[in-house]
Amino acid sequence: MFPRHQIYLDNAATTAMDPAFAQEMSRIATEAYGNASSRHDLGLEAEQIMRKARQQVADAVGAEPEEVAFTSGATEALALALLGIAARESKPGHVLISAIEHPAVQESAQLLRDRGHIVEEVPVCMEDARLDLETLTSMVRQETFLLALMHVNNELGAIQPVTRAARIVKRAAPRCVVLCDVVQSLGLLPVDMGQLGADIIAASAHKLHGPKGVGCLVIRGRAPAALYGGGGQERGLRPGTENVPGIAAFGMACLKGKGDPETLRRWTRALGASLEDRLGAKMLCDGPKRAPHIIAVQIPGVRAEVAVNALAREGIYVSSGSACHGRHSLKSTVLAALGLEGADDVIRISLGRFNNEDEVSHASSAMPRLLEEVRRKRKGP
Ligand code: PLP
Repeated sequence: MFPRHQIYLDNAATTAMDPAFAQEMSRIATEAYGNASSRHDLGLEAEQIMRKARQQVADAVGAEPEEVAFTSGATEALALALLGIAARESKPGHVLISAIEHPAVQESAQLLRDRGHIVEEVPVCMEDARLDLETLTSMVRQETFLLALMHVNNELGAIQPVTRAARIVKRAAPRCVVLCDVVQSLGLLPVDMGQLGADIIAASAHKLHGPKGVGCLVIRGRAPAALYGGGGQERGLRPGTENVPGIAAFGMACLKGKGDPETLRRWTRALGASLEDRLGAKMLCDGPKRAPHIIAVQIPGVRAEVAVNALAREGIYVSSGSACHGRHSLKSTVLAALGLEGADDVIRISLGRFNNEDEVSHASSAMPRLLEEVRRKRKGP
């Protein structure tokens, strides 16, 4: 049985779809269902819908529509980029990724290792989980052909110094491609490819109230090599009939965004502070370089998994670390990078534009009370 009243505070895992997008998707699926490659009216209509969405996505990231290639999400986009860039190399080379990348990057990077490339992880600074730029400077080599660095970390909300990192690697390795995962920042923080210094970015619709299973790569300059063939759609990088309803909703989502940054920052801080004040918890990486919608909180004496379940029973949904780690009970490499190896007492609270003041105020008083009960039970009478 699910509790009747739900307060969804797990927006970094996924967001509720905006009903207006769902309605438009349904209309397109049933009325404008042509294959965008067909040359009759229905096909041309689908192509037109995609053209509009491509422009909306491009506008959201300071790019040109021709630079956008739609994919089935960010995991696929990142894999196409990492593997496709490496496939252009005539021999195994050198790749850098940050130590706190999403598994979508880490796992594809492992495939590159298996193929003989040297992949090294650049550490982050312990106090704010931002990339250690001095170490990056010492690690980059003239032959480094790829740097993967996310814009906002999904577990801690730490905003990464992408522009400065890109400058450092380009100076030492001018042909190095900078790949930036903007999944958590798009629609909330300014994302401008030029300003970030990124050659390729990857994004996902379901993190900004769009549908699941839609994302994109935005590619400036030389494209990654295609990994498989088909009908040549999306510049041949992601061939296959396009998900036109989903792509249309992704475009709409880029226009509406994730919510007001100032409000989200105030709310995440209020939620974190209520746990600090009443449970002696600690907000991790809370500072000006934290993204407004995510707060990670370490609660001594309360196992995250138990906390998540106790809160869920009362209709408050948060997560332990990232959703991927949560489900498969893997240890978080992100927490390990912060020196919190094996920590099992960190929960992540993440907000979106469907949260409201009442929910935040209810959660701020209910969460410490419920978690105090968990702690008391653990200690025993
Ligand atoms: N990158 C980051 C930072 C994420 O948070 C996620 C999703 O959790 C992904 C990539 C993967 O995105 P998708 O679910 O679209 O494959």
